[in-house]
Amino acid sequence: MSGGREWGERGLGEALARVSRRGPRAASTTLPPPRASDWTGKFTGRSPVALRPRTEAQAAAALARCAARRLAVVPQGGNTGLVGGGVPLHDEVVLSTTRMVGVTRVDAAAGVVSARAGTTLAALEAAAAAAGLTIPLDLGARGTCAIGGNVATNAGGARVVRYGTLRSTVLGLDALLADGTRLDLTRPLRKDNTGYDLKQLLIGSEGTLALITGVTLAAPRATVAPALAYLACPTWAAVQDVMGLARARLGEALAAAEFVDAASVALATAHLSHVSNPFPSSAAPYFVLLEAAGVDGDHDAAKMERLVGEAFATGAAVDGVASAAGARPAALWALREGVPVALRHAGACYKYDVSLAVADFEGLVNECQKRATAARGDAVAVGYGHLGDGNLHLNVSHPGPMDARVLAALEPWVYEAVAAARGSVSAEHGIGLAKASLLPLSKPRPAIDLMAAIKVAFDPEWVLNPYKVLPADAARAGAAGGRAGAG
Ligand SMILES: Cc1cc2nc3c(=O)[nH]c(=O)nc-3n(C[C@H](O)[C@H](O)[C@H](O)COP(=O)(O)OP(=O)(O)OC[C@H]3O[C@@H](n4cnc5c(N)ncnc54)[C@H](O)[C@@H]3O)c2cc1C
Repeated sequence: MSGGREWGERGLGEALARVSRRGPRAASTTLPPPRASDWTGKFTGRSPVALRPRTEAQAAAALARCAARRLAVVPQGGNTGLVGGGVPLHDEVVLSTTRMVGVTRVDAAAGVVSARAGTTLAALEAAAAAAGLTIPLDLGARGTCAIGGNVATNAGGARVVRYGTLRSTVLGLDALLADGTRLDLTRPLRKDNTGYDLKQLLIGSEGTLALITGVTLAAPRATVAPALAYLACPTWAAVQDVMGLARARLGEALAAAEFVDAASVALATAHLSHVSNPFPSSAAPYFVLLEAAGVDGDHDAAKMERLVGEAFATGAAVDGVASAAGARPAALWALREGVPVALRHAGACYKYDVSLAVADFEGLVNECQKRATAARGDAVAVGYGHLGDGNLHLNVSHPGPMDARVLAALEPWVYEAVAAARGSVSAEHGIGLAKASLLPLSKPRPAIDLMAAIKVAFDPEWVLNPYKVLPADAARAGAAGGRAGAG
């Protein structure tokens, strides 16, 4: 085969032996996609080998071997990350968890589920649902992303407004340090006030501190029958009014609060045959999707209907549908979840996942559209995202390949604008490769220096995902302070 190779169980030892013999820079082969490139196609690197251990012991042996030879390792789950964190950049060994699968515990009484790191989110959801539980995390990549990758990226998704991020729901983690030593943080305790919480450091560490091998989550009771509403709003102020109504009228039953703008709807319906527009003749610029899911479906549906009536009465909505209590209506969610997929089909896409005050979303999208249009007439700015979490997915799309003029018009402006508004340059996708140099826009220097010191404490040889998360200068300083020379 002309590209690199993937070794499973049988060839694991052989692969490691070969890579070890040849040294980190010796391999010149390139892995074929998908392992050396990402879902967006924006990041493509090189790797001599992808290891896919089946057991934790094999993964530990692989890490120990790589650490001894100072071979850099990139952990990879479902490879659906959007910031290039799982892509090997130069010649790192890819350590994939895709064979380390299986739900290991479902305790309906305690509301606890555990799974091995490579288990897909969809498989974990199915196992939890069979026991009357739900996973407090949901996102469009559920069929491919792995729970280990979800934790490593502290993935957000549509349920954060209800359950918080994974930081609030991960009860235990099993992990391997860079040299293969097991770090057992698996006690599934809701209260454990014993000093530094190391699992919190691993959540969102994007493969730079340890390989997560097992995850235990608090899994709430599955709600019986979600009620949905999809509302067309005449202004951005109206969108915020609807959000206020949702918090006030749905209370703790509020399970999701998402928004799409008209450009998102046009894009999704143009590129995806399974997506349709509930209000094809609406001229409204914004649409809000609300989900209520409490313990009494009829009660939630009634609350949702009252909310919709109030939104009409106050002018916050000019069109709307409310579903009766029942299964999660697939068509409305398909529209919202279809937007990132449609963007992928539409051509070039400049993706920005940012946090800022909801009041500032509209201004940022409009300014983005102005800048994009000045650079190129057919560029469209698209805004959608997690309204309840203050998380805007701002994208610019145009046909054909990426255009340097558009990129120059958008970056670094967009990140500087977010920083000036005291927002975050990464709301939920992480830092990875894409945003390492932008970290100083969201974190003060002493915080970055502490992050580098933590990296050295976990991984003194700088073996795990060495080119990700930390900006190059902090990585160099951290690596020099430790024993390694990478960066
Ligand atoms: C259609 C679509 C919709 C999405 N929607 C959302 C969304 O709503 N919210 C959201 O937050 N994200 C979303 N994402 C992004 C992505 O799905 C998440 O970041 C997801 O958590 C990544 O999981 P993964 O298994 O694919 O990780 P990967 O892409 O394989 O890896 C991501 C990072 O985690 C590290 N990593 C992976 N596994 C491990 C491990 N076992 N131990 C240590 N480090 C590891 C990698 O090195 C890398 O840095 C979406 C992506 C797509 C394609």
